[in-house]
Amino acid sequence: MSEAPPRASAPLAAVIVGGGFAGIGMAIRLKQAGIHDFLLLEREAGIGGTWRDNTYPNAACDVPSVLYSFSFEPGFPFPRFYARQPDILRYQRHCVSKHGIEPHLRLNCGVRTAHWDGTAACWRIHTLHGEVISARALITATGQLSVPRLPDIAGLASFTGPCLHSARWDPGVDLQGRRVAVIGTGASAAQLLPQAVSRAIRVTLFQRTPPYVLPRPDRPAPRWESWLYGHVPPLRWLSRGTVFAVQEFLGLSLYALPVLGAVVRQLCLAHLWLRVRDPALRRKLTPSYALGCKRILVDNGFYGAVTQPHCEVVTEAIASVGPDHVRTVDGGRHEADVLVLATGFASQTFNGTFEIAGRDGRTLSEAWREGAYAYRGVTVHGFPNLFMLYGPNTNLGHNSILYMTESQIGYVLGALRALRAAPGEALEVLPEAESQWNARLQQALGRTVWSTGGCGNWYQGPGGRITSNWSGSTFSYRGALRRFDAEHYARLAPR
Ligand code: NAP
Repeated sequence: MSEAPPRASAPLAAVIVGGGFAGIGMAIRLKQAGIHDFLLLEREAGIGGTWRDNTYPNAACDVPSVLYSFSFEPGFPFPRFYARQPDILRYQRHCVSKHGIEPHLRLNCGVRTAHWDGTAACWRIHTLHGEVISARALITATGQLSVPRLPDIAGLASFTGPCLHSARWDPGVDLQGRRVAVIGTGASAAQLLPQAVSRAIRVTLFQRTPPYVLPRPDRPAPRWESWLYGHVPPLRWLSRGTVFAVQEFLGLSLYALPVLGAVVRQLCLAHLWLRVRDPALRRKLTPSYALGCKRILVDNGFYGAVTQPHCEVVTEAIASVGPDHVRTVDGGRHEADVLVLATGFASQTFNGTFEIAGRDGRTLSEAWREGAYAYRGVTVHGFPNLFMLYGPNTNLGHNSILYMTESQIGYVLGALRALRAAPGEALEVLPEAESQWNARLQQALGRTVWSTGGCGNWYQGPGGRITSNWSGSTFSYRGALRRFDAEHYARLAPR
């Protein structure tokens, strides 16, 4: 089939790329600000981002739903304190439909490339269908964890049974009565393991690094509770505020108070001691790095699953995969009918899978060869009117990422208002503002547990520089983005 010819049109105010939480939130806020000439492009057939993709059994959020929801769209009847994937996806669909985002939404509309056209002072966005969409502002909302990472293990392709990545789960694969090998012990593996163990006849869990695990105080959330949060704002603020304060307090252990980290570590070890009575297994599951260096997990049945007699935790490194087994370096042969790769994501591909070329034709990948960076996590010198949501150094190890996203959305709205007041102009962050921001940020990050904790983690880019995480409290980030600081931007006229 031949591609439709490129279509030229008047630039829109904005194009948002990515229909996950950040893209949906941005679209809602644009409409509320009276900006209606925008499109939201989503490469897949449905909205939801990570909550559409991660459909493995028991996928859920580790942040309570009263906080893991938009501040401007409260009161959704999440059935549990910690919402599960289907309910989070229902919430996202509710937001899209309630706020009338559908007319702006283009599904199955992947972006191939975007380049800055300095003559017209706008972005030319080339879709996979061959269409060219022009917009003054390009807003990327492609997530930090949207590209699954397959492990580089010899013979992986020779496995003859179903081989599933956690973020590309196939509900048609029944684990009932089968031998299942699970590679990885991050948040995804820990969530899917209990169901795998409850269905399979044998589960082998390949662990390279043990996680820290805290108990999870989950409970059903009655409908009246959500109703109250929706209709009595002070109660919502109290509940959100309490959860926020607890998460923020625990977060101090990551970047400011190592002594708190030592206390929480003891809590984790006590939880391990209580849940895993076999000393040999407990030794295997005891982390040796500092708490928080890797993402801290909450226990949704992980320890209960690994202590089942038909579940084995293998800590020898994997040497290869064969048609029906995984071989470890000690020569062990572990038979499997199904292989589950809970091996995480290519977290350094911040702008998803498409290339963005800026003012001088230089691409973001070229600019980020030494690792991703941005100004306030949102803008990059050389890329006028490009705004990133959940960009470099905006991830957290302790609190709701939606709080960070809403901070960015407010900042981008400020920029769009400045653009609306100056037709034809473009905004580009000044190089000195960008480099000062990043120098201070990297200095602070050098003192955090992600740098000093003695582990490898997905927050690090090339050379070990932390490219994913913010360095401090969520409210300090909110403070830094509370207004759009036009004085740190150059105003470019069309060439
Ligand atoms: P992850 O945290 O990156 O974990 C990947 C796991 O695979 C690690 O245990 C890693 O071991 C292991 N691994 C990777 N390559 C391997 C290899 N070649 N051989 C053996 N083991 C290998 O990925 P994830 O669990 O998908 O979680 C990613 C992030 O998504 C989380 O940190 C969190 O931010 C988010 N998430 C959140 C939730 C939630 O809210 N509950 C749930 C899922 C995901 P090493 O540790 O030794 O590298």
